[in-house]
Amino acid sequence: MRLLLVEDDQTLARVIARGLAEEGHAIDHAGSLAAADELIAVNDYDLLVLDIGLPDGDGLTLCRRVRAADHPAPILMLTARDGLSDKVSGLDAGADDYLTKPFAYPELAARVRALLRRPKNTAKPVLETMGVRLDPAAHTAWRGAILVPLTPREFSLLEFMLRHSGEVCTREDLLEHVWDAHYDGLSNVVDVHVANLRRKLEQPGLDDPIETIRGVGYRLGAAA
Ligand code: CA
Repeated sequence: MRLLLVEDDQTLARVIARGLAEEGHAIDHAGSLAAADELIAVNDYDLLVLDIGLPDGDGLTLCRRVRAADHPAPILMLTARDGLSDKVSGLDAGADDYLTKPFAYPELAARVRALLRRPKNTAKPVLETMGVRLDPAAHTAWRGAILVPLTPREFSLLEFMLRHSGEVCTREDLLEHVWDAHYDGLSNVVDVHVANLRRKLEQPGLDDPIETIRGVGYRLGAAA
């Protein structure tokens, strides 16, 4: 596997790089965000080990950038601080795991092995609730065994509701995420689209998957 280590502490970087190389990995090392950016632009990495505190910025920024670019490589964040907020921001930024410094090398090696073993997270798994199935990658939706043709707007509406299945999606949520915050068309646009979606998802013998929460919005699937 090809790994990128982004760490400005040269001593620590040497220890990690030597260890991972001994396990048979190819390791590239970057000591700064800028160097990491250059390497990521030209190489296809299977895993990133990313320090948070770097001389030219924050490892979290790189983490977010990599995720925004849909780069599928797992990311292990290294944080010097044991603060909960660092871990949370690391995970929020799209990291798959984190390790607090100081750590023993075998612990890092174990995390790396675990992350590399994970099935390739295609980032877009099939979503399913109450017999409603949506494949974001293939852009298809089914109810039970029936393929349901949806308009692009209905598709994003259903995808958003499936991603929040069991939660109440307010009209404002839906307007903001499916239409964008600047939509200034008809005020009942959400209701109209939900009604169409509901009709298309109707199948004999299957319950209506969308519940209307009066005066608030809609919920897809049983309450969480
Ligand atoms: Ca550092």
